[in-house]
Amino acid sequence: MTGAMNLFDSVSRQFDEAADILGLSQDIRELLKIPYREITVAMPIRMDDGTLKVFKGYRVQHNGVRGPQKGGLRFHPDLDLDEVRALASLMTWKTAVVNIPFGGAKGGIQCDPAKMSQHELEMLTRRYISKLSMVLGPTRDVPAPDLNTNAQTMAWVLDEYGRKNGYQPACVTGKPIELGGSQGREAATGKGVALCTREAWTKVLGKELKGARVALQGFGNVGGFAATFLGEMGARVVAVADRGGAVRRTEGLEVTALSDHARRHQGTVAGFPGGEAFDPAEIWAQPCDILIPAALSGVLTQATAPAVTARLIVEGASAPTTPEADRIFRDKGILLLPDILANAGGVIVSYFEWVQNLQQLFWTEAEVFEKEEKILLQSFQDVQERVRQHGCTWRVGALVLALGRVTKANSLRGW
Ligand code: GLU
Repeated sequence: MTGAMNLFDSVSRQFDEAADILGLSQDIRELLKIPYREITVAMPIRMDDGTLKVFKGYRVQHNGVRGPQKGGLRFHPDLDLDEVRALASLMTWKTAVVNIPFGGAKGGIQCDPAKMSQHELEMLTRRYISKLSMVLGPTRDVPAPDLNTNAQTMAWVLDEYGRKNGYQPACVTGKPIELGGSQGREAATGKGVALCTREAWTKVLGKELKGARVALQGFGNVGGFAATFLGEMGARVVAVADRGGAVRRTEGLEVTALSDHARRHQGTVAGFPGGEAFDPAEIWAQPCDILIPAALSGVLTQATAPAVTARLIVEGASAPTTPEADRIFRDKGILLLPDILANAGGVIVSYFEWVQNLQQLFWTEAEVFEKEEKILLQSFQDVQERVRQHGCTWRVGALVLALGRVTKANSLRGW
């Protein structure tokens, strides 16, 4: 992943800016930066062709003072410990920003799911869980989907965890509805991105969402649903890029038709007849009002940021912006909503799933969306208050809010 080598350093730099505002001492900073636990596992898997392949997996539990560790499981060929560590720390801040009772973790496997069969992926997921199950569980650490994993992956997690520990649906979230998953979980992250976009565009910038031009990188679970909800709110999705290709249309792409196309073409927008094809690397320079990176980390850099013409950037992906790009956007007066607020909808509904599982009582989609919106809007206001108070960026404002909550919890428990 671009920039992944220094991701933890990038996240640490942002952390320091917020820690300075709060006047946190050096020892507390150290304590909050260093993860509670990091595990690397080797997983030998017999591939379909009979060969033996050894995969590397990781789980980083960053901080658990506010509740069980919580965070996704990503499959990617370039995944490494540095990236998992950075993303785990972002989960700690994310759960604190939205004030849900979880800590932060992240995990994943270095593999290329596009080149693997379902059977191979199932074996790999099961091996990963069986090696880690002693540190997982509803009160310890609760995985969820992330990049290249989905409800099916979580079904395997549930089953494998259950082999040793008995049936415990609250051990993982983002499960299929049939296995105790929550209504609305699949769309939750994209829904949250759309809600935050609406709030920032209409309330902070005072503009009309109807007709506003949106460009997205990524059209998977986050980008796809964000585009759908923003389209429903009246915005115009003018450009979409993904790993397979990119399409644009000034009058606005037909989002439902684009989703259908992607579903029928291995998840990519490439070849969509309702728009003009362009080079996906050019996505950052597309004329638009709102830009939503909704795929990979470290894509908005010193090299790509100067081309951005949007007035608002909403981070659907985790850590898509490097500190250098952050500075460029700040200097250009572009408002940027950080990942730990903008993409928190997913973990909010994961929290609802966990709560429903513990009670074995289920809510409707309307109830889930209503509660998600309530939490997100409150968090949005909480962050805005910090921004006003400290005259800082939204990223720093969100971190100040999160660091305040985590250090308070930590001091109450005792260092
Ligand atoms: N992977 C998602 C995130 O990064 C969801 C995590 C969760 O639901 O635990 O926020």
